[in-house]
Amino acid sequence: MNYLSTRGLAPQLRFSEILLGGLASDGGLYVPESYPRLSAADLAAMRGMNYRDLAFAVLSRLIDDIPHDDLRRLIDRTYTAEVYRYTTNGENAQDITPLKTLEPGLHVLALSNGPTLAFKDMAMQLLGNLFEYVLDKTHGELNILGATSGDTGSAAEYAMRGKRGIRVFMLSPVHGMTRFQQAQMYALQDANIHNLVIRGVFDQCQDIVKAVSNDLDFKARHRIGAVNSINWARVAAQSVYYFKAYFAATHSNEQSVSFSVPSGNFGNVCAGHIARQMGLPIEKLIVATNENDVLDEFFRTGVYRPRPETQHTSSPSMDISKASNFERFVFDLTGRDAARIRSLWNAVESGGSFDLKADGLFDRVSDFGMASGSSNHANRLDTIRTVYEVYGTMIDPHTADGLKVGLEHREPGVPLICMETAQPAKFEDAIREALGIDPVRPAELADLESLPQRKHVMDADVHAVKQYIVDHAG
Ligand SMILES: *Cc1c(COP(=O)(O)O)cnc(C)c1O
Repeated sequence: MNYLSTRGLAPQLRFSEILLGGLASDGGLYVPESYPRLSAADLAAMRGMNYRDLAFAVLSRLIDDIPHDDLRRLIDRTYTAEVYRYTTNGENAQDITPLKTLEPGLHVLALSNGPTLAFKDMAMQLLGNLFEYVLDKTHGELNILGATSGDTGSAAEYAMRGKRGIRVFMLSPVHGMTRFQQAQMYALQDANIHNLVIRGVFDQCQDIVKAVSNDLDFKARHRIGAVNSINWARVAAQSVYYFKAYFAATHSNEQSVSFSVPSGNFGNVCAGHIARQMGLPIEKLIVATNENDVLDEFFRTGVYRPRPETQHTSSPSMDISKASNFERFVFDLTGRDAARIRSLWNAVESGGSFDLKADGLFDRVSDFGMASGSSNHANRLDTIRTVYEVYGTMIDPHTADGLKVGLEHREPGVPLICMETAQPAKFEDAIREALGIDPVRPAELADLESLPQRKHVMDADVHAVKQYIVDHAG
């Protein structure tokens, strides 16, 4: 299985060669040369499999340059009831992603029972084990540099803590994360984890990471890598739970289901698109955005128009102005026309937009089962309240956005599965505002905020960050 760039000008590579990288050398994103197609017999064999068996069935079709015994071992070590133990409603941790049924035909898929209580653990935990495996083979070292507004940084740190050959330098803003999110990251005492707290906002953190990554000499000398949401292995690993949810919500492979996905960078929903391309019977993939509705606008109008500014909302992990994985979907939408992608993103990268309505391409969006909608602060609080009152279940603000939009597209006879992307404990202010009570939280994390913290506070200064890396990268 080769991987090729959406822009067609970068060399084709194997899975292990794109694992540690970010963008392809031509600025595009790597995708499989073709999607492996599961037959009816394959799908029949998968029904009834546990999470680890399913993960192997899906990922071994996408990864053919890691011996299958090794891949199996890495998967078995990643997806355990011990790692995904933070259940709150008496769910069975053995399910890894338990399906909670609100009423017949309406489900929530718990993706946030991992160490940081957000769905990013689902892929990041595997990434940590894959990175360690590949670095071990090559006796390599990697210094991961990233910026976070909350969930990505903690997921990366919990996945990489204590890993041989890996150090993490994670920039986070002094303001903007919840106290829970801060405590999660800063309470880590592992020597290979470095929390750089920047006196500034998230955008400044991101600008510093870009500036360091653009210094190619520095980047090569200090073996700087990333774990951002365009990483192919993350997207691939996320496609597994679409299969798990499908089999849990249906009785036969004749049925199809719809998924509603709280979306920001389009990573999660892109994984659903891939599961569908591999043959999973998905009726609709419903893209739910918050007030930052660049994706909803596209799926309603055919116009993709990244915004100059991000709005700060009460579902902060979806606060994006452009959706970095979206190019993978549009590549398939154009019939994999790399020249077309180059010209579309040429417009986007020079600050413009594109419109796929004019030439009929947009009509094909429905062939891919895509639908969308957006949510705002009032909708979010309403949904949290209604779900609590009617079903006795507490959901977080991102999941609320997904549920709100999902219900707008619900069809009779088609089970609707809403992705739970975080636990309410991470966003206690929003929960208090909606319900007037504190969110439920796994007992083990009761005292998280009172643990000693390990962090390095510094100005928003590229040189200072580089110097810190030089001093600590070994
Ligand atoms: C990252 C995140 C999202 C957005 O996921 P994408 O893959 O970027 O679309 C939604 N909800 C939560 C809680 C997140 O952490």
